[in-house]
Amino acid sequence: MRQKFVCGNWKMNGTIEETRKLLFQLNVEWSKTCENIEVAVCPPFTSLLIAKHELEFAKIKFGAQNCHWQDKGAFTGEISAVMLAELDCTYVIVGHSERRTLFGETNETVAKKAAAVIQAGMLPIICVGETEKEREANQTEAVLRAQIEGSLATITNENCSKMVIAYEPVWAIGTGKNATPAQAQEAHAFIRSELKMRYGNAADSIQILYGGSLKPENADAIFAQPDVDGGLIGGASLDAGSFVRIIESAAETRA
Ligand code: PEP
Repeated sequence: MRQKFVCGNWKMNGTIEETRKLLFQLNVEWSKTCENIEVAVCPPFTSLLIAKHELEFAKIKFGAQNCHWQDKGAFTGEISAVMLAELDCTYVIVGHSERRTLFGETNETVAKKAAAVIQAGMLPIICVGETEKEREANQTEAVLRAQIEGSLATITNENCSKMVIAYEPVWAIGTGKNATPAQAQEAHAFIRSELKMRYGNAADSIQILYGGSLKPENADAIFAQPDVDGGLIGGASLDAGSFVRIIESAAETRA
């Protein structure tokens, strides 16, 4: 049985002090023991150290939002997976659509980053998703297939259990317009079928998160879909109350 997983992507939000306060609130709000769910937050790089301290005794893990695939070298402004592992990150998001569209990330660089993250002992959260134009042109499956083939090119049968996939339709990210539960399920089932072709039955154990305007109001219905194993949450993860309601929704729907 796949465990539900809810991960907050804070993007470029949160000073060190704001991170400390938000994690404190999160720890207070989410005091229930929840053994059947994984929770993580991905703050900006500058807040990872305070996250490590604040979450030392918490059930919440943390990760980063990006990395470089080389361990070190002349790559001004970059941070390597090895450096993130040293901070005890559990996850690294790779291939988020904002990085693909605003920073020129390609399937090839995503694949290299994913391999570096696994090599450093962490789990990549590999993002895929179609634009509105692609969906309207009935290209959703072709786009997802190409992203899976390209971005997972470095993931072998041996290490396919060490990654998480996030299906994030670009048109739903930060727009307030979420995929319907049926649209999410259809895309997730398609992604799982592609994973099955690559990895066989091991695909049944790979977590596939939904991301795109997930909120407490729509979480129950989306999390109830059989191939939706949790969520990657942007905006709503910046409010401890909303994030906790989404976590609880995921924990309840996994019963
Ligand atoms: C995201 O950026 O990964 C995301 C899903 O954002 P939002 O929840 O704000 O749509």
